[in-house]
Amino acid sequence: MNHIRKTAFGYSTQCNIKCDHCVAAEDDYHPVKMALPRARAIIDEMAAANVKAISFTAGEPLIFLNDILSLVRLCKKHGIYSRVVSNGFWAKTPEQADKIIPELKISGLSQLRLSYSRWHQAHINRENILNAAVSCQKFGLDYFISFVTDFSNADDTFEQFLKDNRLKYFPEPLLYFGRAKKFNRSHVFTDYPPHLCDMNPLLTPELDMYACCDAGSCFDKTDFFFLGNLKNYTINELFEKYEQHPLFGLIKTIGLSNIASSIGLNASEIVKYRKCELCEKLFNSPENLKALETAVKSDLGFLRR
Ligand code: SF4
Ligand code: SF4
Repeated sequence: MNHIRKTAFGYSTQCNIKCDHCVAAEDDYHPVKMALPRARAIIDEMAAANVKAISFTAGEPLIFLNDILSLVRLCKKHGIYSRVVSNGFWAKTPEQADKIIPELKISGLSQLRLSYSRWHQAHINRENILNAAVSCQKFGLDYFISFVTDFSNADDTFEQFLKDNRLKYFPEPLLYFGRAKKFNRSHVFTDYPPHLCDMNPLLTPELDMYACCDAGSCFDKTDFFFLGNLKNYTINELFEKYEQHPLFGLIKTIGLSNIASSIGLNASEIVKYRKCELCEKLFNSPENLKALETAVKSDLGFLRR
């Protein structure tokens, strides 16, 4: 398989707000931050390892605006596609947005992703998101709004705001990890989705690398997604571990529903899970993980369509 190397880059876990649904933080979290020279050296190493895209995420990156601008410039120098994921706290007025967006654009940022949801907007005025998006349009910076939703009607007015203002957005399912673990889960009715997942590795400020940026560090019973720490491995070695892992390959190619079916889950049970919940069921259970590892070792064809 031809892999394009890309990663989420957690420069700091610090955030200026505390969303009830945050997957990046539990209630008792202590923010950590990478040292800037270390982050620069890692990006140099990533460039040498042929990493083609870096997404600055985890916490609110633009709290450290000057550091992020410097890292984005470095990405540009190496020809790496760069994205920043932000809650838009800095765009209280159109004028304030018009100060930051050109700086990001001139530094070479490829795309700004604005986080938006009823949980984010309990702390950040939705006008901020509008100001930031309009400023992106004005200065020619690619952007999109990540509209996190639990698909309940409570989100309709939030979605309508985006439509009324003709903003570019994509719905993104709420993940029931981190602080959202305690949320009540409404039923989602679909047919039998394959639940393929692209995955996206994550490097944390502590230099741990996970194969999945969304819930990678939350699979605490098996540490299934943990690849290793940069103190013990090179970037290239960590990517090779990620690329050569047979089960990660199956998550991307045959999908979680087929993997679940192959170890005996009934279709009537599989359809009750959201994608990441099914992933958790399969890979955060020592028994299921053992069964799957045995299956791929003994007969890969058993799991192949
Ligand atoms: S979801 Fe994003 S904006 Fe909200 S607390 Fe977590 S890191 Fe901060
Ligand atoms: S399905 Fe699994 S690999 Fe994909 S985002 Fe969810 S937890 Fe991560």
